Amino acid sequence: MTTTLQAHPPGDRAADTGLIAVFADLLGFDLEPVLAELAHIDAVEQAVRDAMARHPGTADRLFHATALLTPTHNVMRSPEFHLPHVRELLERIGAGADTRPATDVEICITMSKASAVAPLTSSAMGLYFRAWTNAGLPDVANIAATSRRHEALESNEIDNHEAACRRHIRVPTRVLGAITCDGFHYGIAADCRYATANDAAPTSRTER
Ligand SMILES: [Zn+2]
Repeated sequence: MTTTLQAHPPGDRAADTGLIAVFADLLGFDLEPVLAELAHIDAVEQAVRDAMARHPGTADRLFHATALLTPTHNVMRSPEFHLPHVRELLERIGAGADTRPATDVEICITMSKASAVAPLTSSAMGLYFRAWTNAGLPDVANIAATSRRHEALESNEIDNHEAACRRHIRVPTRVLGAITCDGFHYGIAADCRYATANDAAPTSRTER
């Protein structure tokens, strides 16, 4: 997914889907990938809304932070890998924490690539399993149980690896820049700290 995620007021997506279905029928193209992409974008939007509900004090910042949620690796074209990444970043944004360090999913991707080059050490495997488990990825091949065994034996080493990995593969540009807001969120007037005074009444919803 390479497009910038956009806010859609409730109901818009259904209208979009209906229109796409009409064109797909007329042109004879496969609708499934389009619907999957729309479902993916909807899931990200819902994650943002859920985070705004969990962090009402920083809901306005979360609304305007979607540019930070774009996938950083091709594998995140899959919602299974993208959504845990999104949720971790949203929690950091809501808490005012640093968004640059690698997420659990980014650690998993890095460890996967590293394991293809050379065998991982036991503690590096421990980090791989910790990040996989923390991201809530599927518990395939008893990863959760294996992770617990590694944690029992070498949690300190894993802690050190984790800190180094989050720092080493951080995304320096993943920070909130200047935010402008027309005072509308999801098409509804919002009490937003980033809203600028504007004599002319805004006529359209905010594009983040
Ligand atoms: Zn705003």
